[in-house]
Amino acid sequence: MKLDVDVLRYLSKDDFRVLTAVEMGMRNHEIVPSDLIDRIASLKHGGTYKVLKNLLKHKLLHHDSSKYDGFRLTYLGYDFLAIKTMVNRGVFTAVGRQIGVGKESDIFEVACEDGTVMAMKLHRLGRTSFRAVKSKRDYLRHRSSYNWLYLSRLAALKEFAFMKALEEHGFPVPNAVDCNRHCVVMSLIQGYPLVQVKQLQNPETVFDTIIGLVVRLAEHGLIHCDFNEFNIMIDDDEKVTMIDFPQMVSVSHRNAQMYFDRDIECIFKFFGKRFNMSFEEQSDDIDGSEVDEDESGRPSFSSIAKTAGFLDKELAASGFTRKDQDDIEKFIEGNAGDDVSDDEHESGLCQTNIKGFDSLHLDQKEPTSSCNEEEQGYENQHSLEAGLTGNPEGQNSSNEEEDNQNADENDAELMKSLAKQRRRAMAAARRGRKSVASRNSYKDKGGKSSNNSKIQKQLSSW
Ligand code: ADP
Ligand code: MG
Repeated sequence: MKLDVDVLRYLSKDDFRVLTAVEMGMRNHEIVPSDLIDRIASLKHGGTYKVLKNLLKHKLLHHDSSKYDGFRLTYLGYDFLAIKTMVNRGVFTAVGRQIGVGKESDIFEVACEDGTVMAMKLHRLGRTSFRAVKSKRDYLRHRSSYNWLYLSRLAALKEFAFMKALEEHGFPVPNAVDCNRHCVVMSLIQGYPLVQVKQLQNPETVFDTIIGLVVRLAEHGLIHCDFNEFNIMIDDDEKVTMIDFPQMVSVSHRNAQMYFDRDIECIFKFFGKRFNMSFEEQSDDIDGSEVDEDESGRPSFSSIAKTAGFLDKELAASGFTRKDQDDIEKFIEGNAGDDVSDDEHESGLCQTNIKGFDSLHLDQKEPTSSCNEEEQGYENQHSLEAGLTGNPEGQNSSNEEEDNQNADENDAELMKSLAKQRRRAMAAARRGRKSVASRNSYKDKGGKSSNNSKIQKQLSSW
């Protein structure tokens, strides 16, 4: 997937308002009825239809008229909402090349004003296991908001919360910078996934460090659950950093022992195969921890002195609740452990050229070329993208006043005002009549005419 952030620069305030309105509608609708979008967005001068058409053209929305006329966000639309928020918050100012395609994520370089390069992970839960999402819906039948948007947001929140907590406890993880929607910004690790490393100076030391991490995690009440050569980064000094935390569970999980043993087994297997290590002679002192081992040298889960409650106490503080944990666990269970990342090692990974970045000056004129990536194309994306294209000439800050105005428009305020419109529409639907909130005379000129009774039925379920 090419994250064509060029488009982002040309989107207007109204474009983002309508895009956010669709996002809000998706809390309760897989496909948001056009009328509802119009009512939530409630543009001052009308014209929701035109805006929707523009968003559709740029593949930020998907149109569906199979049951009624409506729209849903595409991954790209959701990406843009998160990126805009991050840019407005001053987290970064430019998006660079894609550096990783995970099982259920895309990772890009981003840069801030001073040139610091970081990593942005966009979660895509349900991408490789869409069928799993569908079948697992049963678990959460009562939740109408159970969809990829919700899951990806939960995954990002969980990853951010864990990364922060682990960092505070001295674990070698990226520095968690910020999180919004399905997007996590973290420090860029100067290294390569272990799967790409063919030789090590000190494989025994690296092995001990890694096994020691699994044990230390358990001592802190946690199991990674996807601890393998794809999720361990290693730099030129053979320093280890662990990544990828959405699937972590507590040691009190009913399958904790199995997950722990599986994490350990992955590492033993990989080091045995890749570095021809035999484990019988391993010392029984794994990275300083005093843990019993079985006859094959594997640390025994039951002998680890564990501090349970790490999850509940520390993670709840960062906004990730027990309920969030339960929801995401239900989805992830069974999917963990089969990381099949096709990431490719690129030697230039760490020596980022800032020229390869696209600065994001939002709210500018129409681009000459439109984004023509197929949404479905995301699913087969395995190659790394080169840096994004440069700035079109003469299009920077052409309308400074409007830029500033746009930057000033606080996300929270927009959400607040749209939420108000959503409540009004909901109240109107409950009263069984058309909403009075709309200030526009929006007419859907494109698709089939909306089925009001159906929409109102849906609205009444809010
Ligand atoms: P997934 O959950 O989809 O497996 P990961 O978090 O494992 O995603 O990331 C996928 C790949 O992206 C990693 O294997 C690594 O190559 C790259 N990557 C992820 N985070 C970082 C980071 N902070 N710095 C550098 N590269 C990263
Ligand atoms: Mg991974």
